Amino acid sequence: MDLSVSKHSPISHQYYRDLPTTMFAESNPAPSTSPSLVELNTVLLNQYGIDESWFMSEQGLLNLAGNEINPENPPIAMAYSGHQFAHWVPVLGDGRAHMLGQMQITNGTLVDVQLKGSGRTHYSRGGDGRATLGSVLREYLISEAMAGFGIPTTRSLAVIMTGEKVQREKSGPGAILVRSAASHIRVGTFQYASATQDINVIKALADYVIKRHFPELDQDDAKYLTLLSEVVKQQAELIAQWMLVGFIHGVMNTDNMSIVSETIDYGPCAFMDTFKPNKVFSSIDRHGRYAWDQQSNIAVWNLARFAETLLPLLDLETDAAVEALEALLAKFIPKFNYALQQGMFKKFAFEQADDRHSAFIGESLATLSDQEIDFTLFFNYLTNVHQGNDDAPLLTLFSDREKGIEWLNKWRLLKSDKPESWLTMRQANPVFIARNHQVEKAIRAAEDNGDFTLFRHFAKALANPFEHSPDNAEFEAPPLADEIVTQTFCGT
Ligand code: AMP
Ligand code: MG
Repeated sequence: MDLSVSKHSPISHQYYRDLPTTMFAESNPAPSTSPSLVELNTVLLNQYGIDESWFMSEQGLLNLAGNEINPENPPIAMAYSGHQFAHWVPVLGDGRAHMLGQMQITNGTLVDVQLKGSGRTHYSRGGDGRATLGSVLREYLISEAMAGFGIPTTRSLAVIMTGEKVQREKSGPGAILVRSAASHIRVGTFQYASATQDINVIKALADYVIKRHFPELDQDDAKYLTLLSEVVKQQAELIAQWMLVGFIHGVMNTDNMSIVSETIDYGPCAFMDTFKPNKVFSSIDRHGRYAWDQQSNIAVWNLARFAETLLPLLDLETDAAVEALEALLAKFIPKFNYALQQGMFKKFAFEQADDRHSAFIGESLATLSDQEIDFTLFFNYLTNVHQGNDDAPLLTLFSDREKGIEWLNKWRLLKSDKPESWLTMRQANPVFIARNHQVEKAIRAAEDNGDFTLFRHFAKALANPFEHSPDNAEFEAPPLADEIVTQTFCGT
């Protein structure tokens, strides 16, 4: 080990300290009893252009496991509020996470590096500040799957086992996820600033976000309105992208919605196997608030909470300000519908699509739901048909074969005839997703037997989800009847 290289942490900035002090708390992670690095995302580090030697060094491990603090850049916990299932919670914040700071990556941009599961903070309330290895591996696999699809997301950089047990429904190994993100600022962060009722705090936060993430708005005369407009646009695109791969976030509380529109806080989230528009996985979402087909409506609701925090910053009379914000919020649904429709056109290989194509998509989704068809497999097999392969695998998905033949005939009349449209279709239809039962299998092997083979194989495969490969064939299959995971838990 070359200590001269590894001594210096690449996490060399802490720009959140520029915010008013009410927005964060000084907080040191709790030391881990017996830390070990069980996974390092070297592919991501390479993309970032960050040397991996510090992460692999003794010093790196001590810092990431909470056993030593970098005295030049001490960690903090960030403050935020949130509406959880529509109920207002004034103080949430990082209850089990520590922001180590920012790294400057290849193209000069900054990424946050945060520890999750690193011990109690000022915001822990009754919690133990820890995370189970299972929840950490789950976030790792699903966030890396999202990245593989090209969907904006926080990333998983490393997994540290703490050597301690964590008590949830049962006792299990504890772990820390080292995650990176363009930002950890949430809608709930703005709500926290707003709740201080100090306009300087709200302004400082909004200006910080603009400076770091939307610098092109800095000279905009109506920069806070334009900020909302940009966030509306990005979130509309994000939610459409989730839905196109059958993703259900599960806890779209305002504290789990990133202001830079990266998917964040993977708790009881999941990808659907069988298509059902009102599908819910989370054990705590009893009323289907965050179901697959509700996510756009919830995003608008959350963005309305964000918009409210900007009100005092607008140089307008209250009525005019409310009107201006509402006009921008009203653009969400059309933008979302457009993005979803464009994405669906690609999934079905439709070009120069018109109302007939749109109507057919609606009918097709209803058929998928009625016939209880696997969402990913359907589009995967349809892509194979478009490439010139046999219809048979697709037809086996229909419980009513005649209906399948009828459907396929209609689709053939509408699909693009251009051979190259197959490529676009392939890029819209993953060969595999991070299926629940496979995620569970990988977690069980790691938690129960300390065997990370399946986890590592799966993580690697998910980086290339649009490519069929015999090595990864096991990840394509939907669950057998006794493998179906019907609920996912917050027991994190
Ligand atoms: P989440 O449901 O993971 O988005 O978390 C909601 C809030 O609960 C956040 O403020 C978290 O920091 C906090 N929280 C979740 N789990 C724990 C824990 N084990 N210890 C302390 N705080 C936690
Ligand atoms: Mg959260």
